Amino acid sequence: MDYKIAVIPGDGIGPEIVREACKVLDRIGERFGHRFHYTEVLMGGVSIDKTGVPLTDEALAAAKASDSVLLGAVGGDVGKSNWYKLPPNLRPEAGLLAIRKGLELFCNLRPAVLFPQLKQACPLKDEIIGGGFDFVVVRELTGGVYFGERKTVTENGVRRAVDTMPYDENEIRRIAKWAFEVAMKRGKRVTSVDKANVLDTSRLWRQVVKETAEEYPEVELCDMLVDNCAMQMVRDPKQFDVVLTENMFGDILSDEASMVTGSIGMLASASLGATKLGLYEPSHGSAPDIAGQNKANPIATILSAAMMLRYSFDLTKEADCIEAAVNSVLDAGWRTVDIMSGGYSLIGTKEMGDRIAERI
Ligand code: NAD
Repeated sequence: MDYKIAVIPGDGIGPEIVREACKVLDRIGERFGHRFHYTEVLMGGVSIDKTGVPLTDEALAAAKASDSVLLGAVGGDVGKSNWYKLPPNLRPEAGLLAIRKGLELFCNLRPAVLFPQLKQACPLKDEIIGGGFDFVVVRELTGGVYFGERKTVTENGVRRAVDTMPYDENEIRRIAKWAFEVAMKRGKRVTSVDKANVLDTSRLWRQVVKETAEEYPEVELCDMLVDNCAMQMVRDPKQFDVVLTENMFGDILSDEASMVTGSIGMLASASLGATKLGLYEPSHGSAPDIAGQNKANPIATILSAAMMLRYSFDLTKEADCIEAAVNSVLDAGWRTVDIMSGGYSLIGTKEMGDRIAERI
């Protein structure tokens, strides 16, 4: 089969890690008889430098015309880069919000899997980790406080800023459905995370999630307050299967979930909507501190490409093959700097990509 993939290298380590993911996809193509056609799309700081905006209409159109989108990362050093002297809607990350909105991607899946080979990199104690953990955060992506009205005003000489967090029941229901669908393919447990003791949006969230649960009698649902969830993720991450939550809570909790797995460089993500077209990207950012040094771990991006095969193209065997190749490289003791510990062999971004590709 032929597949059109819009590739967005972005900024920082983005181009390096995306290159390795495409290398692995090409190997999959050779082995399984598929052809992946790549169209490079500008987004983020690199787009600001060339066009003045983080995402042009043409770039969005190119992404829409593809079967799926593979993204590295966008953004620079927030303290140093001139991009952050621009108004917020013209900064690199605005491209990210715009493409998610433009492609109508309202669901973000972030798996948090502890690879047994990387147990030493996990900051949690052995008795907490046990036999490892494997859960997925389902985060609402296009609503809530990141998209609500905001303003900064000066009243009587005092600066005042306001952000608002709107949600309607349809937005909640469609993301809840995704969480239950994912749970049906996994451990059939959903933990819905909110702040219902304080926020009206959370009280509506809780009601609508409960109503949606009635369509999935096999799935066990429990509610958890976000502050408790932040604690439970480090106290007993094994308890989770699917964690469902709104945009900002999900942003924070999925980063915490990344850290308890030991390395942010290992974690894939998928953003999905109502169609097969998805946006696949690593959970981490553009890591400007190590950009261009062949130090970045490309595995999160390579595993994101595997998720693309699984969710957008229904290529299960091929996705399994990439995941097995990653496991095999880890078993063989190869490590990038972020997951390095004593007794293993340090390699760079390109070498990690090569070793994974040669095991496909
Ligand atoms: P970051 O994830 O880029 O980096 C945090 C730390 O993790 C850094 O020390 C970095 O070197 C390390 N790291 C990240 N990915 C790595 C990898 N693959 N291999 C090895 N080490 C890795 O987060 P940050 O420093 O807060 O943000 C940097 C820039 O990225 C900012 O401009 C931010 O806005 C942007 N950002 C973009 C996205 C995205 O494109 N989706 C997501 C988060 C942050």
